[in-house]
Amino acid sequence: MDLSMPIPSAAPSASLAIDGQRLWQRLMALARIGATPKGGVCRLALTDLDRQGRELFMRWACELGCTVRVDAIGNLFARRAGVDDTLPAVATGSHIDTQPTGGKFDGNYGVLAGLEVLATLNDAGIRTRAPLEVCVWTNEEGSRFVPVMMGSGVYAGAFSLEHALAATDRDGVSVRDALRAIGHAGDAPAAVADGAPRFGAYFEAHIEQGPVLENAGVTIGAVTGALGQRWYDVTVTGMEAHAGPTPMPLRRDALLVAAGLVQRVHAIALAEQPHGRGTVGCLDVFPNSRNVIPGRVRLTVDFRHADDAGLARMDAALRDAAREAARGGITVDVNPVVDFPPQPFDAELVEWVRQGARRAGLSCIDVVSGAGHDAVYVARTAPTAMIFVPCKDGISHNEIEDAKPEHLAAGANVLLHAMLARAGVA
Ligand SMILES: [Zn+2]
Repeated sequence: MDLSMPIPSAAPSASLAIDGQRLWQRLMALARIGATPKGGVCRLALTDLDRQGRELFMRWACELGCTVRVDAIGNLFARRAGVDDTLPAVATGSHIDTQPTGGKFDGNYGVLAGLEVLATLNDAGIRTRAPLEVCVWTNEEGSRFVPVMMGSGVYAGAFSLEHALAATDRDGVSVRDALRAIGHAGDAPAAVADGAPRFGAYFEAHIEQGPVLENAGVTIGAVTGALGQRWYDVTVTGMEAHAGPTPMPLRRDALLVAAGLVQRVHAIALAEQPHGRGTVGCLDVFPNSRNVIPGRVRLTVDFRHADDAGLARMDAALRDAAREAARGGITVDVNPVVDFPPQPFDAELVEWVRQGARRAGLSCIDVVSGAGHDAVYVARTAPTAMIFVPCKDGISHNEIEDAKPEHLAAGANVLLHAMLARAGVA
């Protein structure tokens, strides 16, 4: 524990609650910027629509009496002063960029839940000992620019500011130029290593993007950590030949071998329950002609697991599978491309999320995040936890993404009490 943090003072009144309707109205107002005909949102990072969304956030933050700083990768930080402004801020937030066919809640909810917490404290006349901040992280989705979770990744030092600024979209526009074009190339340092302030704690509220809470009939997920991820490109090479004259025993069919690997990836994950995940999401078949035996197949493998040992077992099993598959003139090449370690969240903060749910009379279970979030990077620099609320049928990254107003309000109340507990009521 960071000894510079304030000791939480007496718990604020349990009756203190956010205004669910105001939160919902802000969500709907932000969703109008880039609204799609099917009810979703298309607001890609650093476009003019993103600028409009950012400016709406900044206007709301200023109306709440916050100061806003913009850093060199375009992250926004709305700050509500604490009684002791030398204390590290207790922060929350998420992102407001979306997928091209994204929804209204992914990311936006975490940002606007943060503003709702500040509005609630203003209404109740509550001052906190530590300052509070609401963050908007740049390009979390990674749809226009890679790497994903760009703003929080730079902040935490996962990659350099220069690397991020040089990334280009499909039209060759760089992050650097896109930031300048929308006026959000700020002058505050972007990375903790370059002097960006470290938070005393970071909480992120987010829709679950999976079906666990809804299936369990539970309102709050106390997120204990995020699964680690290992991604691979696998290439199976055989020999193209005519589908008619080549007898079955003499074929070197790369797709047949790849099909076996798809099954093995599934089996490898099944052997690592409850947290193991294994997915083959892409399959490129060459030459992809109906009367040619496939000579080469490229497939992607995405493994996830809650701990490093599990990921190491999955890695070894994939390499065994590749070795066994490589015979009879077939070669299998396994190339690792991404390695995100599992990220446990801070045990004390997770406990405050559980307590916040209990205090508000809400059902709560522990869950792990299977997806990446800004919080996963921020957790490298400060004690961090996440609050999940259910989304309809577990669907997100889709225009039909939906969440119940009462669930969104419930998560924001948990966020309120967790932030207050950490920041201390003056
Ligand atoms: Zn998100």
